[in-house]
Amino acid sequence: MKQHFVLTWKAKNNIISRLSRNSYRLKRINDAFAFARDSRVLEGTLAIAELERLHDLLADVTGEVSWRIEGFKGKRGEPLLQLTVGGTVLLACQRCLEAISFDLDVDSLLEVVPAGVELSQDELEDDTRDFLPVERELDVAELVEDEILLALPVAPRHERCGLPGAADAGERVNPFATLANLKGKPN
Ligand SMILES: [Zn+2]
Repeated sequence: MKQHFVLTWKAKNNIISRLSRNSYRLKRINDAFAFARDSRVLEGTLAIAELERLHDLLADVTGEVSWRIEGFKGKRGEPLLQLTVGGTVLLACQRCLEAISFDLDVDSLLEVVPAGVELSQDELEDDTRDFLPVERELDVAELVEDEILLALPVAPRHERCGLPGAADAGERVNPFATLANLKGKPN
C-alpha cells in the first residue's frame, strides 16, 4: 500500500514537471510531515535565473544548482529533513563587481514544526536543532534559496581585484566562520 502511494506521488510529480515549462514554481512537497514520516526523498535542479533573491549578490545568473531533500524521523520521533545543495555560483566582488566563483556545499538538518507553534525556551536555545516552521506544504525553491543565502559569505572580495589568480581568493571570507559568529551571538 505504501509503495503504491509513493509511485503515484512520483508519477504525479513527473507529469507536473513535464507539463510546466516553469516547473520550479510547482516544486512543492504537499505535506512535509508525511514526507518525513514516510522517509521520502526528492531531488532535482533549479536554474539560478529562477532564484531571484540571490540575484543582487551575483555577477552572473546562468547555471543551476542541484538539491536533494531526504525525510526521516529523529530519535524522539520528530520529523526531520536533510537538505543538501550543490553547484557553483558567481558572486559579485564587493569591490570590483567581477565574478568570484563560489562552490555551494549546503548540508542542513531541519526539524519540521507546525507553523505558529510556540517553541519552548529550551528548544530555542538548543544549538543542535534547526527548526523549520511549515503549514503543511513546503515550497522547495524557497527553502533552497533560504539555505543558499545563509551559506554565502557576507562580503565576498577578491584578495587583489584584477590580478591574475585573484578569483581564487574569495575563500578569504569563510562563510562558516560568519555563520558561527552569528549563531554564537547572544540575543
Ligand atoms: Zn574584485
